[in-house]
Amino acid sequence: MRKHILQLSIVMLCLVHTAGNTYAQSVKEPRTTDPNWTKPYPPFRIAGNLYYVGTYDLGCYLITSPQGHILINTGLASSASLLKASIESLGFKFSDVKILLTTQAHHDHNGAMAAIKKMTGAKFMVNEKDAEVVKDGGRSDYFSGGPVSTFQPVAIDRLLKNNDMVKLGDNELTMLHHPGHTKGSCSYLFTVKDEKRSYRVLIANIPSIIINGKFSEVKSYPGMQQDYAYTLKAMKDIPFDIWLASHASQFDLQGKHKPGATYNPTAFIDREGYDAAIKQWQGVYDEKIKEK
Ligand SMILES: [Zn+2]
Repeated sequence: MRKHILQLSIVMLCLVHTAGNTYAQSVKEPRTTDPNWTKPYPPFRIAGNLYYVGTYDLGCYLITSPQGHILINTGLASSASLLKASIESLGFKFSDVKILLTTQAHHDHNGAMAAIKKMTGAKFMVNEKDAEVVKDGGRSDYFSGGPVSTFQPVAIDRLLKNNDMVKLGDNELTMLHHPGHTKGSCSYLFTVKDEKRSYRVLIANIPSIIINGKFSEVKSYPGMQQDYAYTLKAMKDIPFDIWLASHASQFDLQGKHKPGATYNPTAFIDREGYDAAIKQWQGVYDEKIKEK
């Protein structure tokens, strides 16, 4: 009897151990604090073949072509079906999404990436500096990392370097390496055209600083300070007509566009707003490096 109890205990220990491992590999999205991240927003045409398909605050962008579409960012895990519905309501086929991109390897932009990759069969391309974090679902992230993934790990089809081009149909996107917020945060620069004119578009990853304390205290991201300095400088000189960002609030989407409004790409021509956003984070950076 005692022997049986001992054997049972060993079996139970093994089960607990296995369960522990499974847990370590599962995904636990950080509790969302901003309801605007999941609040639906009506999809609309921004300019030419560029469409907004994100939520109220999480910017997701569809760039279409007869050869297939590019989707940048996915929002949280629960937004996969919302994105699909948004793309379809614009008259496009979800299965025509051929390339998936992200502006940064955090769960609020990659939550549904693995699911959408599976649903569409699209190829996922990522800045090489964010490769490790997307492969482990955020476990190695300096800020939200830990033993449990914050988003479903994503398999990578192509690694991108600064200034690499992503091409599909007539679309040519240049990936701009803008590290700091994550090691591989990046922006995309490309041209779209409508019946009247063409627009140079920047989908910017604004270099927001989310750590408390000094840059040098972030041991899992050596060089973070230099990366922010590089990015703040690099972002000042980008020529564009229209700018958008990873978060809708960063470029004041709701101030520039009302749901159901007629097509008006000029609403997003706003150099001043962009310069102010960069200047604001430059100020935060300048203060932080002065901290003793
Ligand atoms: Zn982030």
